[in-house]
Amino acid sequence: MRISQMLSEASKPYPSLEIVPPLKGVTKKQLLDSIRPFMEFNPPFVNVTTHRDEFEFIPQADGSFRRALVRKRVSETAVCAAIQSEFQIEVVPHVICGGASRELIESQLHDFQFLGVENLLALRGDCITGEKRFVPDPDGYTYASQLVEAIAQFSKARGYSFCVGVGAYPEKHFEAPNLVTDIENLKKKVDAGADYIVTQMFFDNNSFYRFRDKCMAAGITVPIIPGLKPLSTARQLELLPEAFSIDIPLELTNEIRAHAADKEACYQIGKEWCSAQCKDLLAHGCKTVHFYTMGKVDNIVDILRDNF
Ligand code: FAD
Repeated sequence: MRISQMLSEASKPYPSLEIVPPLKGVTKKQLLDSIRPFMEFNPPFVNVTTHRDEFEFIPQADGSFRRALVRKRVSETAVCAAIQSEFQIEVVPHVICGGASRELIESQLHDFQFLGVENLLALRGDCITGEKRFVPDPDGYTYASQLVEAIAQFSKARGYSFCVGVGAYPEKHFEAPNLVTDIENLKKKVDAGADYIVTQMFFDNNSFYRFRDKCMAAGITVPIIPGLKPLSTARQLELLPEAFSIDIPLELTNEIRAHAADKEACYQIGKEWCSAQCKDLLAHGCKTVHFYTMGKVDNIVDILRDNF
């Protein structure tokens, strides 16, 4: 079922999840067992992230090293197929512009059509680790809006209609000069055919509500799904803002800092904060809340138990 249809027909709120494909070597059983605890809460769809190849230094016979791009994870297509057949739920592979030619993206779309995947999340993709600016493939796309357009053209030509989501940033994408311009660029993705929006994680719901209002004022009327992640260690006070260009509210920062030496206390504080955010989002009419699992299960299962 299309996510846009699930959102319009939902009679009660439900959780959705994002998982990261495992590193090569992890078995299908290990992957599925790691996701199984979430199934108790009947998530109607699971997003599967897609990752650029990463640079690695490969030792050579003469003692030197060769820098090569290496794929470290199982492909999102394989992970989607495994989840679909085991749990009979919708999967949402992320399709990224980074590192992909137009032809490669078209091949991926054929694979997803072959698997009966109905929903996609179209993104520009992160830079390769170590790169400061995004460099598009010479025969690829620079912005996610171009990818959304390409998916729409593929759908039209094949008579197969994907439901397409796109990413958004309540606190602004790190490259955008300001939030107004970023929202104008978000509207380009919707005008190109995006059916719904999923946000970057945030820790202050007011930033989401303000963002949602600004999107509506800019004429963006497709559903906006809020994304949450529970903070789980004191170190994440630095890591998350660095990796995702997001703010952590002072109150949460102070609370975590006051218990920085106590790992369990930090884990509990992060979990309770996220659960309170989820409750508040549901009370404000959100039909689904999207959780970034990032390989963690227990804290999210507890939050789902509290809220769904
Ligand atoms: P875009 O929408 O292309 O925007 C990128 C920047 O360009 C923004 O600053 C925007 O304002 C600007 N811009 C857009 N259009 C134009 C234009 N026409 N002219 C000028 N400027 C423009 N990354 C991964 O690598 N793999 C994943 O699986 C993944 N999953 C994600 C899931 C979600 C829900 C989110 C929110 C992000 C995810 N990301 C993922 C990260 C994302 O790829 C990066 O944040 C990336 O830097 C931007 O992607 P985008 O699709 O938002 O890009």
